[in-house]
Amino acid sequence: MLSVVIPAYNEEESLPKAAQVIGGLLAEEGIPYELVFVDDGSKDRTWDEILRAHEENENVHGVHFSRNFGKEPAIVAGLAEARGDCVAVMDCDLQHPPEALVSMYRKWEEGYEVVEGVKRTRGRENSAHRAATGIFYWIMSRAVKIDMSRASDFKLLDRKAVDSILEMPERNAFFRAMSSWIGYTHTQVEFDVQERTAGTTKWSTWKLITYAVSNIVGYSTAPMQLVTGAGIAVFLFAVIMGIQTLARYFTGHAVEGFTTVILLILLIGSIIMISLGIIGYYIARIYEETKGRPKYIVSRRV
Ligand code: UDP
Ligand code: MG
Repeated sequence: MLSVVIPAYNEEESLPKAAQVIGGLLAEEGIPYELVFVDDGSKDRTWDEILRAHEENENVHGVHFSRNFGKEPAIVAGLAEARGDCVAVMDCDLQHPPEALVSMYRKWEEGYEVVEGVKRTRGRENSAHRAATGIFYWIMSRAVKIDMSRASDFKLLDRKAVDSILEMPERNAFFRAMSSWIGYTHTQVEFDVQERTAGTTKWSTWKLITYAVSNIVGYSTAPMQLVTGAGIAVFLFAVIMGIQTLARYFTGHAVEGFTTVILLILLIGSIIMISLGIIGYYIARIYEETKGRPKYIVSRRV
């Protein structure tokens, strides 16, 4: 059986269509399936739509979060809930074409354990957004050491791969990185990002920025190495300046150089502040993880 995990946050408009289109296509192709909708604490009628879809089609299941936890926890909840031999993850707004889901399933039948949907085209995005995602993926690709520039959350995983992801205890899940980190036999299916069927994007710019920063910190210690690098640079500078200062002292011209002092205080002060901030970010992450809170809270289930 194929389980399709679909995170949904305020998707009352697109959810009925998603259930119909995906369910209809899989039935047509003769693929046994279940649809697992994860209502990420929506404030609209998304949960009622899931209940209605469940009445119309018994293959539709749903879980409802007690509040908005974000897309990543929603994906993890869906993976935990799914009972299939393979599990696919896709968006509720049908930006991930269901036809590609069928080709991914066929790849799985051929024996691939992780089938990734890669974006052939990115669909409509404004240029600032495109530049920002470019930088984010550049850093992430280096952190995870895999090219992520065309990666998406549209993937199909074998049961073994799903169980490996569910075994990861970390609270800060990042599905795209985790599904490549686990290994297994990979293959790719290309797809064109479609227009959103209904509603608007659920990501505000601020939400995207915090998501990017937290994933970079979660998967890479490069910012910490940056601190070490800055420390070494300042130290070399200090050695040179120290020699110069001593030379001046012994030759009797020690009073000059007030500008240098001001500049040095400013420079070193700001490097220390930034470094503390970066280290603080990691400490915050350690604190978050040691609290050991659940990744999400399910309040209703169908
Ligand atoms: N989503 C979610 N929780 C959130 C934000 C988004 O579950 O806090 C879901 C949303 O319902 C959709 C998917 O994540 O199914 C992708 O969101 P969206 O289409 O808004 O993102 P975009 O396609 O614009 O990147
Ligand atoms: Mg979308």
